[in-house]
Amino acid sequence: MVAVTEPSFRQSVDMMFNRAVGLMDLPPGLEEKIRVCNATYTVRFGVRLRGQIQTFTGYRSVHSEHMEPVKGGIRYALGVNQDEVEALAALMTYKCALVETPFGGSKGGLRIDPRQYDEHELERITRRFAYELSKRDLIHPSQNVPAPDMGTGEREMAWIADQYARMNTTDINARACVTGKPLNSGGIAGRVEATGRGVQYALREFFRHKEDVAMAGLSGKLDGKRIIVQGLGNVGYHAAKFLQEEDGAIITGIIERDGGLFRPEGLNVEAVHQWLTKHGGIKGFPDAKLVSDGAAIMEEDCDILIPAAMEGVINLSNAERIRAPLIIEAANGPITAGADEILRNKGTVVIPDMFANAGGVTVSYFEWVKNLSHIRFGRMQRRAEEARHQLLVDELERLSADTGIGWQLTPNFKDKYLKGAGELELVRSGLDDTMRTAYQAMRQVWHSRDDVDDLRVSAYLVSIGRVADSYRAKGL
Ligand code: NAD
Repeated sequence: MVAVTEPSFRQSVDMMFNRAVGLMDLPPGLEEKIRVCNATYTVRFGVRLRGQIQTFTGYRSVHSEHMEPVKGGIRYALGVNQDEVEALAALMTYKCALVETPFGGSKGGLRIDPRQYDEHELERITRRFAYELSKRDLIHPSQNVPAPDMGTGEREMAWIADQYARMNTTDINARACVTGKPLNSGGIAGRVEATGRGVQYALREFFRHKEDVAMAGLSGKLDGKRIIVQGLGNVGYHAAKFLQEEDGAIITGIIERDGGLFRPEGLNVEAVHQWLTKHGGIKGFPDAKLVSDGAAIMEEDCDILIPAAMEGVINLSNAERIRAPLIIEAANGPITAGADEILRNKGTVVIPDMFANAGGVTVSYFEWVKNLSHIRFGRMQRRAEEARHQLLVDELERLSADTGIGWQLTPNFKDKYLKGAGELELVRSGLDDTMRTAYQAMRQVWHSRDDVDDLRVSAYLVSIGRVADSYRAKGL
């Protein structure tokens, strides 16, 4: 439980922001302009369901329009409120600036438990919400482009895109009004996995820097590192799966709504996920005992903790007991400002949310560009690239034969070398580059300034500096 003295989510984000701007030399007033949320729209609408009208409350908050469109997910959860939406919109501004996606920050939410409605009902609710937002340009290819978040996914994004298209029948760029769509409705390969994939790339980059790894009291590579993950939804599942299957990490703990599983020898992420999908919870999973107080598992000994569920889960009431030396914030705002201070004093290294989960918005950016250019990435180059590589391979083999050297290219090398990059490979390459570049910008500040001792402030310094530059360029 969050302690009573804990600030709200938005206050927590503001406190972190203030800690960073205190180290900057911004012109008077600009600090306030960047920090405040520009506008938040609240809508209440009715939908006739099960023989009666049900009223829903939704929000779309625009934090900063220093670049347009503004960008940010739409969340479906019972806890959605104005404070939360504004905090998330602010984080989007800083995130987009940090990873250099050309967007301002926004976020939306609908106060609803999506599990209480069937697909047909959810479609009607989503279409009505999309209608309310679209008619105020709060969904628009050049103004405001939503994406999935907690409780929403490809399906909801397809409904939103279709609703917008019905209302804007002559807009040739209609598909760019929302990202995270299924491939057959204008989506992009690799978007579903993107945020989890970004967490993997973020950790890989962190482990490339020995000094940074040492700051967390760790050594070596990701291989064999013990990881606990909270939330096996879109972000947590993909992050845990890739880290286990591709980097040799051991997932020792998985925490879900109905409890947690802990197994020091490792849990099979895919098996737990299949169980969760089938049964709606992890209870009864045969290979590990369920701990009913799942959050307590976050306090177990491990190398890396990945909170990937929701905000405020590491707070004043448990921060002191968190033993992980390295935490990567896959969720938005999982560590409150107070807990952040406790962890900092303990020497815990925190890879902050605005960087750690930026994979989603990065690939959303690629999807938006794809929609505006009306062509799949790689479509023009792929076969030309393959043909050029084939030329080189043929020439090498001819030379080898003609000169009698007898070199043989291994079939594995040939297969990999000859294959031109399709959309998925290009998306992953762009995401990897984005995560590496952003991490390097953060760590440069972390290591070069005596008054900076953590990655969160470094991230804020980089992103606030960029937002400030963009306001200055506009003459503000
Ligand atoms: P999701 O709905 O797919 O998954 C969330 C998971 O967390 C679910 O499996 C849910 O059962 C579980 N959960 C909820 N409350 C929990 C609790 N108290 N303890 C343990 N588990 C709990 O949502 P998601 O899209 O994976 O988003 C998770 C977090 O990542 C959110 O903070 C979101 O803002 C952030 N995020 C998501 C994206 C994205 O692309 N989906 C991008 C950036 C950030």
